[in-house]
Amino acid sequence: MDRLCRLLLILLLPISALQSQKTEAPNVIIILTDDQGYGDVGFNGCKDIPTPNIDRIARNGTVFSNGYVSYPVCGPSRAGLITGRYQDRFGFGRNPVLAPEDSTMGLPLTEQTLATVLGKVGYQSMAIGKWHLGAHPTLHPLKRGFSEFFGFLSGGHRYFPKEWVLWDINDIEKQNDGYRTKLMSDYTRVDEKEYLTDALSREAVKFVQRNPDHPFFLYLAYNAPHGPLQATPKYTDRFAHIKNKKRRTYAAMVSAVDDGVGHLLDALEKMGLEDNTIVFFLSDNGGPEKKNGSDNGPLKEGKGSLFEGGVRVPFAVQWPGQIPAGQVYEKAVISLDIFATAVSEASAPIRASHPYDGVNLIPYLNGSDTGSPHEYLFWRKFDQNWYIAQEGTSGWKLMTGQKNEPRLFDLKLDIGEETDIASRKKKVVKKLNKKQQDWLMSMKDPSFLGLSQRKEYYRIKGYKRKE
Ligand code: CA
Repeated sequence: MDRLCRLLLILLLPISALQSQKTEAPNVIIILTDDQGYGDVGFNGCKDIPTPNIDRIARNGTVFSNGYVSYPVCGPSRAGLITGRYQDRFGFGRNPVLAPEDSTMGLPLTEQTLATVLGKVGYQSMAIGKWHLGAHPTLHPLKRGFSEFFGFLSGGHRYFPKEWVLWDINDIEKQNDGYRTKLMSDYTRVDEKEYLTDALSREAVKFVQRNPDHPFFLYLAYNAPHGPLQATPKYTDRFAHIKNKKRRTYAAMVSAVDDGVGHLLDALEKMGLEDNTIVFFLSDNGGPEKKNGSDNGPLKEGKGSLFEGGVRVPFAVQWPGQIPAGQVYEKAVISLDIFATAVSEASAPIRASHPYDGVNLIPYLNGSDTGSPHEYLFWRKFDQNWYIAQEGTSGWKLMTGQKNEPRLFDLKLDIGEETDIASRKKKVVKKLNKKQQDWLMSMKDPSFLGLSQRKEYYRIKGYKRKE
């Protein structure tokens, strides 16, 4: 053995010793909420809505204080999350129209979901709740790597069973009719009787209980607390102290999710799976404060915006024994990292032709890598001609487009993005601008018309829809 080999062996020893403690591929759970504000979890300081169960994840693991999603509204954010790639790489730069007739309206078949990739190494996967990645039969979760599905294909849904009156998604006359469909179990419409959030939680627990012996991936995409604001007395009764009616119902909806998270964590514990399961919790975008009564805390603006309130979300992860408990991680991370973390820890194969944009977070969280997960992060809102380039190490955030002069914010000192310092930091502006332009070279224009262009879309397709 030459000296180089011996040196390599010595260097590799501590890592392999650590890895040997992991006996099998970990289960992966993503709990995604919808339109929940950055400030609306206990671990981010929420006072009026207790979230003891979501906070268990923070207590058992790590809170990301600078945790981002890749887009400030539902559809594109989910496309990024489930593929681990900036969604603009494959033209998902708009919120899709609900169009069950159209096989191009959703996640393109050229992309692989996390379920597909984990399926290659034997994972059972289930998608529960909101899909929003295409309603055409070829884009159904069961065609995208998931072995089971329970939920709805549209971008939102009403919460009370009595309002679910449509047995066939092809019967929709307007977009929001998608909110009134019967739920689906795999390919079958079912007559569900429970409050929506409770039904999704119940199915999540059952899925875990069905899979005690082999690795699984659970994608639990609650649509709470997205509108319409609807909750049952079981939950609203907890919030008589909140005077604002919107926030009172919103609080009840968050509380229902929190109960569900509790049941799921209890099931993992009871089955002895806690130490072998990575559980992520995050919201798909920031809260639309005026619409649903959410609160983004100190962050500026909310859903739809590229200011922090739109893309920085409540975000935490637990993996007992592998990630330190009670930790707050302050370096910038993004939802795309969930994919990279899961496939790395599962040793699942990745296609070289489809590079992913996230990183495995585990080395950063257990301290074996003290660097920054991301040198740069980028965002684009194509229709608004709005761009962000953020330096992960420094916290410089460059905002360009929208006919404005470039603006620069120092997120470390100015979380509320109140002071534009572009004129004082011209070199930083120039550098980030260059990085942004380089990134844009790899991005594609949107490949489908979005919700806001739906009238034009209906006209082109010849669909008879009212709105
Ligand atoms: Ca959303």
